[in-house]
Amino acid sequence: MKWLMLPTDYFTALADVSDAAEVMFTRGLDLAAEMDSGGVIPLAVLHWLTRHHRRAGSFAAELVDAGLWMAIDGGYQIVNWHQFAAPRSRAHIPTAVRLAIYARDGWKCVQCGAMAPLSLDHIWPWSLGGSDRPENLQTLCMPCNLRKGASTS
Ligand SMILES: [Zn+2]
Repeated sequence: MKWLMLPTDYFTALADVSDAAEVMFTRGLDLAAEMDSGGVIPLAVLHWLTRHHRRAGSFAAELVDAGLWMAIDGGYQIVNWHQFAAPRSRAHIPTAVRLAIYARDGWKCVQCGAMAPLSLDHIWPWSLGGSDRPENLQTLCMPCNLRKGASTS
């Protein structure tokens, strides 16, 4: 997603990690923004960030060592997320709207029917001017959302 603007602190820290960990970190930023998770990367989706690479866990450990991620209950927190996410906040979708879309779609992914972990998807991408109106929003599980993101970026 081209609207991402990385704080310079991230670039400095990324100089010390492997290429694979860097890819994982940048994809994690996209994912956290897309699911509006407050910078949390749940363990349940960690492996999607590296396409199920068997060393995903050690890449995560590299990011923790570099000060980019913090280990939390059930996953990881992107450090300084709110600094990074600030430009995005004007487009924040209210929780009530988010829950209404999930409910409209039956609390499941409209593509594969999975019930968790759910995320909101802009049918016409937000980064290309897609609106936050309900008719442009749909419920996708995070794996489907990541696949869609990968195919349109
Ligand atoms: Zn799905």
